Amino acid sequence: MKQSVKLIAGNWKMNGLGASLDEVAVLRRALEAEPATCRVALCPPATLVERLGAAARGSAIEVGGQDCRAEPHGAFTGSVSAAMLKDAGASLVIVGHSERRQEFGENDGLVAAKAEAAVLASLAPIICVGETLEQREAGKAVAVVRDQVMNSLPKAVLGRDFAVAYEPVWAIGTGLTPTLEQIEEVHRAVRAAMLERLGLGSAAAPILYGGSVKPDNARDILAVPEVGGALVGGASLKAADFLPIIRAA
Ligand code: PEP
Repeated sequence: MKQSVKLIAGNWKMNGLGASLDEVAVLRRALEAEPATCRVALCPPATLVERLGAAARGSAIEVGGQDCRAEPHGAFTGSVSAAMLKDAGASLVIVGHSERRQEFGENDGLVAAKAEAAVLASLAPIICVGETLEQREAGKAVAVVRDQVMNSLPKAVLGRDFAVAYEPVWAIGTGLTPTLEQIEEVHRAVRAAMLERLGLGSAAAPILYGGSVKPDNARDILAVPEVGGALVGGASLKAADFLPIIRAA
């Protein structure tokens, strides 16, 4: 990923049925009329990856998964491997989202294994990190996030297409966001940890901000130094909300 080209990725979470592909058609038409200056990706539920890929084929919209299993195959009922997502048309995958860390007990080691599985399958992992409200209020945000970066990024991502997403847990789906100064402070700490862990070869990988990014705050957030894009949840479901965020990049 070139650092100068931002990545705006939408995470539909467990939202969207076939009818949601109408939104992709609207987005596609808008981006064909006026191409984006950033990379654009949508990560729908696994059942829609293939159909969204078909709806976006030939356009600039990339398709991603929301999670993958670390193992390549096997007796893991209900799971999807990185190679399966690739086979269905994905080029990216989110790993370590806080909803998975919290609800499924995923730790940094597992997130690193998933990110490694992603690059082995030629998918670009978007590796998520972020502090809880309790950790921020205790003054530990930077230390917690630094620790997550040091332990969630496998060496295998070096030289590959990947991104880190800083998503404060308390900002996800709440309408709350850190101040621009707080975002800059954590993003600088993430970059420093990436350089320490992976060296200069990681300097071009973008660091996305995620957590209540909306059309009315996107421009300010995306202008913060070291913010290389956004991971967008709720506001990625409707083209009318997602498009202004893409235009702000
Ligand atoms: C997310 O789930 O990654 C996210 C950032 O959600 P939202 O934009 O809705 O806060």
